[in-house]
Amino acid sequence: MNVRKWVRKEVLEQQAYAADFINCQIKLDANENPFALSPPLQAKLLERMKAVPLNRYPDAGAPLLRKRFAQYYGVNENMLMTGNGSDELIQILCTALAGPVSDLLIPIPTFAMYRILGLNNGYHVREVPLDNAFDLNVKAIVEKISKKTPTLTFISYPNNPTGNCFSADRIETILDQSTGIVVVDEAYFNFSEKTFLPLLNRYENLVILRTLSKVGFAAMRIGFLIGPPELITELDKVRLPYNLNTLSQIAAIFFLDHEEIFLDQIHEIIRERKSLLEKLSNIEGIQPYPSDANFIFFSCTLDANNVCKQILRQGILIKPIKLPRSGQTCIRVTVGKCEENEAFIRALKSVITK
Ligand code: PMP
Repeated sequence: MNVRKWVRKEVLEQQAYAADFINCQIKLDANENPFALSPPLQAKLLERMKAVPLNRYPDAGAPLLRKRFAQYYGVNENMLMTGNGSDELIQILCTALAGPVSDLLIPIPTFAMYRILGLNNGYHVREVPLDNAFDLNVKAIVEKISKKTPTLTFISYPNNPTGNCFSADRIETILDQSTGIVVVDEAYFNFSEKTFLPLLNRYENLVILRTLSKVGFAAMRIGFLIGPPELITELDKVRLPYNLNTLSQIAAIFFLDHEEIFLDQIHEIIRERKSLLEKLSNIEGIQPYPSDANFIFFSCTLDANNVCKQILRQGILIKPIKLPRSGQTCIRVTVGKCEENEAFIRALKSVITK
C-alpha cells in the first residue's frame, strides 16, 4: 500500500525537524541553561515528585499552575494557558485559527517551528527577510498586511537566531496595522528583560508566549500563552486535556518557589554573554552581533558549516544557520558556563587560524 497518497501535500514536502542526538562534551547548540540543578535542590524537587500518584491523570488544564503564573505575570487567570513547551502553544494557535487560504507571516530568519507548524496546518507562509541590521522590514511587512491580513504573525522577541530584540515601535506598527493575531514570542525574556506584557491592555490582537525551557527546565516542557480571554476560550477547545503532565506542573511551581536561584544563573549567563561577545569580536574574520538572548549569532569569513564540523571534532556542538537573503551561512552559539565558553573560543581560534 502506498501510504504517501493519504498524506497531506504540505507534510510530504517537508523534512522532519532535525533534533537528532549528537554526541558531544560541550553542548552549545540549543539555547539551554548550562547549569544543572544543584544536588540539594534536585533532592527537594524529587521529594515533591515522589508524592505524585502516577496512576492518576494530571490536573486537567493545570488550574493551580495557572493561578500561580497568572499572578506572576500580573494577568487574570482567564488570560493564561499552559502548554507542553511553547512549541505546543504555537501548534494550538495554528490549529485553532483559520488554516487553508489563510496567511501566516514571519520575518526570516527566525524560529523554525513557526513555518513548520504553519505549513502543517495548511497556511500560506509569507516570509519577509529582516533588514541589514536584523530589524523588521516594517515597510515590506505592512505592504503584505495591506494586501491580505495574515491570520497569524509570529515575532520572536528577542529573535532566534539573530539574538536581537526588534524595534518595539515596528512591532507596534504591525499590531496597529494587522487585524489578525500577532504573537510576540518572549522565549528569551529573562535575558532581555524587554516585554510586551504591559501592552496587552492596548492591543486585543496581541498574544505573548513564554517558556521555562531557557531558564533551566527544558526537559520538563513548560510553556505559557498570555492573551485575550475570548481567544483562550477558543484555544482551550483545541488543547489536549492533559497536555501538561503532573511532574512538569510540579517543576513549574518549583521554579516559582526558587526563582531567585534561577535568576542568579541567568545573571551569570548575561555576564558570560558580555565576555563571550568581547572575545568573539577580537578574533579576526569573526563578526559577532549584539545579543539580548542566551546565545550569540556571528558570521565568519571561512565556510561556517565546515567550521562547525571541525569544532564538533573537538567535542563542542554549535549550530550553523543559513541567512535567507545573502545565502551566507552564519553560526549561533549558546552562552555556556565560563569554562565551556573558553573551550569554545579556543576551539574556534584553532580552526580559524589553521
Ligand atoms: N520560541 C522560540 C523563539 C524558541 O527559540 C524556542 C526554542 N528553541 C521555542 C519557542 C520553543 O520553546 P519550548 O521549549 O518552550 O517549546
